[in-house]
Amino acid sequence: MKKQTSNWPPSRLSQKTKTRLMEIYDRLYRHFGDRKWWPAKTREEIVIGAILVQNVSWANTTKAIQALEDRGLLSFRALDAADTALLEDCLIPTRFYRMKAQKLKAFSGHLKNRYGFDLDAMLEQPEDTLRSELLSIHGIGPETADDIVLYAAAKPSFVIDAYTRRIFHRLGMTPENPGYEAMRSWFMQHLPRDVSLYNQYHALIDALGNRVCRQSRPDCANCPLLELCLHGNRHLPESRRP
Ligand code: SF4
Repeated sequence: MKKQTSNWPPSRLSQKTKTRLMEIYDRLYRHFGDRKWWPAKTREEIVIGAILVQNVSWANTTKAIQALEDRGLLSFRALDAADTALLEDCLIPTRFYRMKAQKLKAFSGHLKNRYGFDLDAMLEQPEDTLRSELLSIHGIGPETADDIVLYAAAKPSFVIDAYTRRIFHRLGMTPENPGYEAMRSWFMQHLPRDVSLYNQYHALIDALGNRVCRQSRPDCANCPLLELCLHGNRHLPESRRP
């Protein structure tokens, strides 16, 4: 495992970083348009999707959600009562189906024991309290917790994923391995605490990471961030620049 950068982010806020982050947002918005998430019909479906999408594509997550819906399992009450083998069968498209079945069971059990399956009661807590509680549940890591806080509870919590780490490191704004909490703090210190902004920003980062700033062979010539990007300017030959 790569060593995390321990003295980052710097303790002082930077006006330059604030301005740069909003410039990046504006450029991505102009390029991709409105990308707001989360594609789901209910808050329960958002939470289930947030648990299932870890380390797998959204397309495969959708297949599993459809399989759960087809078997009447798209609620935590139904998941709690579900036969584990049937549940695992529905989750096969998500690859780590045994582990993800355990996670759904753990969340269902927590919701039953503490809230009598009332998800709204859980989500209406202040964001810091909610986030701490989510992180105490088996299988809920920081990215899943922040997905739930932002998209299911509609409270301000910036989501960090592999695309965010890759893009902002290539831009030259963050270390290669800043650590989840440090990077989340850095974004939240330099952006207004705005649910709508965090929602859209994360979705735009996802669009760039998925379509343009790929792991190998990023399409820098067609990237809306090229003028701001350290990696792009170092590696894209003059002849291929727009
Ligand atoms: S210019 Fe290239 S490396 Fe930089 S963000 Fe765009 S695609 Fe990624």
